[in-house]
Amino acid sequence: MRVLGIETSCDETGVALFDTERGLAADALHSQIAMHAEYGGVVPELASRDHTRRLLPLIQRVLDDAGASRRDLDAIAYTAGPGLVGALMVGASTAHGMARALDIPVLGVHHMEGHLLAPMLEDDPPDFPFVALLVSGGHTQLVEVAGIGRYRLLGESVDDAAGEAFDKTAKMLDLTYPGGPAVARLAETGDPGRLRFPRPMTDRPGLDFSFSGLKTHTLTAIRQLEADGALDDQARADVARAFEDAVVDTLVIKCRRALDATGLTRLVVAGGVSANHRLRERLERETRTRDARVYYPRGRFCTDNGAMIAYAGAQRLRAGQHDEPGQMQAVPRWPLETLAEP
Ligand code: ATP
Ligand code: MG
Ligand code: FE
Repeated sequence: MRVLGIETSCDETGVALFDTERGLAADALHSQIAMHAEYGGVVPELASRDHTRRLLPLIQRVLDDAGASRRDLDAIAYTAGPGLVGALMVGASTAHGMARALDIPVLGVHHMEGHLLAPMLEDDPPDFPFVALLVSGGHTQLVEVAGIGRYRLLGESVDDAAGEAFDKTAKMLDLTYPGGPAVARLAETGDPGRLRFPRPMTDRPGLDFSFSGLKTHTLTAIRQLEADGALDDQARADVARAFEDAVVDTLVIKCRRALDATGLTRLVVAGGVSANHRLRERLERETRTRDARVYYPRGRFCTDNGAMIAYAGAQRLRAGQHDEPGQMQAVPRWPLETLAEP
């Protein structure tokens, strides 16, 4: 079954063709990062307009790269939410229009289910069950995954997502948007021993997260250095390092607890922040010492992409799930744990 995947939930237009027999045939991405950079964040109306401009040419490119034509498609999957409603509508209406014209099934996919299943596109994918840490721009969640659509939420952020905290810290340090990669780069030259930031909500039991206090702590530290006339390049790097260490440590502690609580030995980490090298290094070490294993998507499938949507959609479409004709879905808020088995 050849499934076209379309992702337009936020600021990347992603398209891919996934073949359930042969795997990923082609994928392409257009990132709007440069366009939104001058505003320091995503401008929803600009995002929708740009998806409209980019999507059809990107679909054509993926088909060309795969040596396929529209007629070869067996089904279409698109991101139905959560995300920016205007941006979601572009993918949803394009998918439904194409599916109607080609007379093939179409299905709205949950964006976080896409992230969660992205490691399945790798050569040595994890078996079910596993614990998933979803760490992205909008989500920080620990989920027990028994199978596709069998999700139990173990914990989540009560305020900011980890990626959002990276983005805000980057702003405080006058770094470029999106902040994660920029903060990580600056942290490389930071002295890990100079500043120590709190590890929020690790001093009590539980699997929830909170990153908003850490953000305030970071801002206070920057202001103090500034007041002391000590905010030079080295100090900025030291702040970045202290922040990154605090986030990574917190995530590792909670993953350890989630593995303990479930008794599982497989950990999947997905979403934009899973691209972070220090996080990967620490989780490798942590899982090695306890005979567990950690799985990630390849770097470019950590952040938003069409491949994860094509893959997740294919699993449900081949089980017979699909939207009713004309019933396109664009759901800005949509809890992952409400999903059901296909
Ligand atoms: P969601 O998936 O929750 O709807 P999103 O789609 O905007 O949100 P993603 O595209 O998965 O999120 O990830 C983007 C986030 O990942 C940004 O917050 C970005 O700063 C962060 N990020 C990307 N690379 C890194 C990195 N190397 N280290 C830390 N954070 C990173
Ligand atoms: Mg993004
Ligand atoms: Fe995402």
